[in-house]
Amino acid sequence: MIYDSPLRIVWFKRDLRITDHAPLLHASRGKVIPLYILEPGYWTLKDTSTRQQDMLIAALHDLDSALSKLGAPLIVRQGDAVSVFKTLLAAHPVTEVISHEETGNAWTYRRDLQVAKLFRSQNIPWREFPNHGVARGLKDRDGWSKRWHQTMASTQAQTPERLEPGVDLTSDIDQLRQSDVSNEWLITSRADAEQGLESFLQARGASYHLSMSSPLTAENACSRLSVPLSLGLISMREIYQATQAQTKRVRANKKNFPVTWPKALQAFGSRLRWHCHFMQKLEDEPALELKTMHPAYEAVRGEPDQNRLQAWQEGMTGYPMVDACMRYLKTTGWLNFRMRAMLVSFASYHLWLDWRSTAPWLGHLFADYEPGIHYSQVQMQSGTTGMNAVRIYNPVKQGFDHDPTGEFIRQWVPELSHADNVHEPWTLGSQPKGYPKPIVDEPTARKAASSAIYALRRSAEHRKVAGDIVLKHGSRSKRRFGSRPTKKGAPAQKSTPQTELVLD
Ligand SMILES: Cc1cc2nc3c(=O)[nH]c(=O)nc-3n(C[C@H](O)[C@H](O)[C@H](O)COP(=O)(O)OP(=O)(O)OC[C@H]3O[C@@H](n4cnc5c(N)ncnc54)[C@H](O)[C@@H]3O)c2cc1C
Repeated sequence: MIYDSPLRIVWFKRDLRITDHAPLLHASRGKVIPLYILEPGYWTLKDTSTRQQDMLIAALHDLDSALSKLGAPLIVRQGDAVSVFKTLLAAHPVTEVISHEETGNAWTYRRDLQVAKLFRSQNIPWREFPNHGVARGLKDRDGWSKRWHQTMASTQAQTPERLEPGVDLTSDIDQLRQSDVSNEWLITSRADAEQGLESFLQARGASYHLSMSSPLTAENACSRLSVPLSLGLISMREIYQATQAQTKRVRANKKNFPVTWPKALQAFGSRLRWHCHFMQKLEDEPALELKTMHPAYEAVRGEPDQNRLQAWQEGMTGYPMVDACMRYLKTTGWLNFRMRAMLVSFASYHLWLDWRSTAPWLGHLFADYEPGIHYSQVQMQSGTTGMNAVRIYNPVKQGFDHDPTGEFIRQWVPELSHADNVHEPWTLGSQPKGYPKPIVDEPTARKAASSAIYALRRSAEHRKVAGDIVLKHGSRSKRRFGSRPTKKGAPAQKSTPQTELVLD
């Protein structure tokens, strides 16, 4: 076979779209093999699940139909990436492999090293484009926020009008198990991602900042874009630019919009930046999945108590808000930020479980599992970064604050559906049938945890290392979403380690 133009493989990973896709645009100048590799080894990991795989398969079908319309259907291959590439490179004169950079878990990190080695040995260039607003090879965080805003405001990669298929290849796509996982919230198609963004920016998000904390209101008031973002059905730049456009409309026509919109959009814009800010931490330090960010906490919690771990995983701790959230998450695959933080705080402080025993469990339950955000957040909520304030959530207070009537608890912990005081069932004359007594005494467990953490935080050595961590991972940004850029040449603001204890 004679090839008169370059033949490029576009390796799709966590970027299952054709819009704002720089690798696809670049490859469209020659012949293209759009490739997705379904890797069985990945799906045996503790932080992955059948639900995530089902969603991925649905998204692959959606991508296949979009690519087919452009002229080059998606080629799905099953196997380990090195073997799949070896076969393809042996059979076809591939000139380049192109993909987005992936900030994945330790497994995908190692796989990328092996694949890179193969490409080097065969003199095949592998060109990787930055993903969302995450930068590769950073030395520190100076100027990060400014660069993020510039990237987000820059022109999107055009969608190619047509693609020239490289070679006639068979695809495994029709062999993949298909189950109907997607629903209004578990988005697995581009059309639903666009619809989710539209409904959030036009209506649902009006009181985002006021309604995001209660699991009762968050379901509708939050954007629910984390799932399409983790699959890459939509780019962060697309979401950012749509949000900016809505911010401008609201500013220009204040009278026509509810007064809550400006603050809602500002809060939402900040969280879009957090998405990349947290991913950047794992990108800069892949070991964060396995090691504490501050070494002082490496062994502080010891071997996890298996009974406590199991009770937490099953939603049987005897703390109704914790148990309701865990059961809700298991059923739906999603939970709002505050309640995720409370689940981790309760496990890490009250139950004194090492975060490495709880993070994969939550990761496999999250339909939006994004390793970069996940491990950075789990460490932050466990007090092991050394640079963030220690925030310990009181699960009883969280229940009173965010489920005052007990509606959420009654729905998800049916053992309490007829109880009077659902927030503190242990105060009732008799324990509700089938529901356990509290696994620990809340104030005692909280005090023991904060004493143990603060015994480490007080030392001069701790502060010194925490200062270095701030330089590497800490946010310098005081800039808010939608605000004007800071004066040219103004020095980046450096934050210092936060030392206070926050009880919430
Ligand atoms: C322990 C823990 C683990 C988490 N694991 C994940 C994860 O695996 N995947 C994931 O996408 N998010 C994770 N988050 C962050 C956050 O809870 C979710 O992004 C958010 O709840 C998703 O719902 P949404 O899309 O409606 O968010 P919205 O509130 O509508 O926010 C819009 C987007 O901003 C980003 N975002 C929002 N809050 C945060 C935050 N606190 N940190 C970083 N980015 C944020 C997300 O991309 C989100 O989709 C975790 C938080 C905690 C405390």
